[in-house]
Amino acid sequence: MRELINPATGLVCAEVPDTPVEAVAATVRRARDAFAEWAETTPAERARLLLRLADLVEADAEELTRLEVEETGKPAAVFRDGELPFAADNLRFFAGAARSLDGTGAGVFSAGYTSVLLRRPVGVVGSIAPWNFPFVMAVWKVGPAVAAGNAVVIKPAPQTPRTTLRLAELFAKAGAPDGLVQVVTGGAEVGQALVTDPGVDMVSVTGSTETGRAVMTGAAETLKRVHLELGGKAPALVFEDADLAEAARGVSMGATYNTGQDCTAATRVYVAREVYGDAVEAFRATLAEISVGDPWDPATDIGPLISGAHRDRVHGFVARSGGRVVHGGSPVEGPGFFYPPTLVTDVAQDSEIVQGELFGPVLVVLPFDGEDEAVRLANDTRYGLASSVWSRDVARAMRVSHRLDVGVTWVNDHLPIASEAPHGGVKGSGFGKDMSQEAVQEYGVTRHLMIKHAAPVERDSFRPA
Ligand code: NAD
Repeated sequence: MRELINPATGLVCAEVPDTPVEAVAATVRRARDAFAEWAETTPAERARLLLRLADLVEADAEELTRLEVEETGKPAAVFRDGELPFAADNLRFFAGAARSLDGTGAGVFSAGYTSVLLRRPVGVVGSIAPWNFPFVMAVWKVGPAVAAGNAVVIKPAPQTPRTTLRLAELFAKAGAPDGLVQVVTGGAEVGQALVTDPGVDMVSVTGSTETGRAVMTGAAETLKRVHLELGGKAPALVFEDADLAEAARGVSMGATYNTGQDCTAATRVYVAREVYGDAVEAFRATLAEISVGDPWDPATDIGPLISGAHRDRVHGFVARSGGRVVHGGSPVEGPGFFYPPTLVTDVAQDSEIVQGELFGPVLVVLPFDGEDEAVRLANDTRYGLASSVWSRDVARAMRVSHRLDVGVTWVNDHLPIASEAPHGGVKGSGFGKDMSQEAVQEYGVTRHLMIKHAAPVERDSFRPA
């Protein structure tokens, strides 16, 4: 049995058994059986399942909120009124996307032959998810895979399994065939059992860059397709012509949403030297207004970090930085694993706090001189997931955005997402997209069917000797 800890209290909130490693193979076999059936369904049937599921998710909001808040400590309102409706919207989008997949084009490309391109599902997908957005991540993993005709075995993070278990129950209630969506619980060992199982055709993981590497290595033996949504260290570039108050609001929100435990969090803020002093003060003032506390209190903006060990890790980055701590910087006393919004300046670009993903509500602010230096500093990490540019000059915002090696750039905001827009990174942030048509496409393969309808013509058709 694994004890789940409520990070807002430090107390055990539930116990969930880990799946024995040796039971993973049987789970995958059941998924293969389910896949054989599901692969034959029409897009309309898949869409209907996902639409029913979206309704069930909304109807189950109270219970899903209780489970998610107990395990993550995130403010109840943030989940119930934001993440949960968004997840339902994701499911409805995937339902629509299932019915508008590309790749069914036909043509005569060689004289005498009709070519038909068919999209087929990959097979059984092993999905591995992190603890920061347990429910939304499960939806992002399972939704597009099922829409494309696959069966899924998903492993949530060991700290936060219950909303994923609940999602599988809701799938069954919505009419999913037995074995289509199954959950295995536990840590890296169970994850590796999934990654290396020969019955799994593709592995999709959201987690740290190190985990992505371990998954890719594990998947190599059986040559599985991999989809990697990994860490980030998003820069926010604030130019001298930006609306500083807006930038302070947007970046502070982008840095502290979900207590900074967000792969796209604004963690490195580079400010034009001309307005650097004013910007630091504006950021300090905005961070000071963010309320940290009880996730069930409607006035709370951010809850605790996920665990005591993680809080020690976050604080370690701040304590070792040697920088000037302008705001926050000490763990909050009392039960639970709370850490305040924190602002650090005067650190070197190559320091750990600028380069490493610390995954907490910590903002580092540094000055830059000119566009070229801003771009150079922004691109100077191993990550490439998210970024934002703050400027009133549209041409500059476009120019700078084009030069950033990242999956997403927001202009004059940081964090908003949409079901239609692909989410994913480059460099050490991995490859593959969640959400959008691209996600559904990734869970499929194109097959070519070439039908001889007339005697081939020598000049056009190539046949190997
Ligand atoms: P993690 O890498 O520790 O764990 C992620 C998942 O992988 C968990 O389910 C874990 O049990 C499993 N796992 C760990 N080692 C494994 C191994 N060797 N083989 C198979 N499975 C293994 O990440 P976390 O601490 O749960 O989440 C935080 C990380 O996730 C951060 O790095 C964050 O940036 C990243 N993240 C990325 C995105 C994105 O879309 N790019 C979104 C959310 C979180």
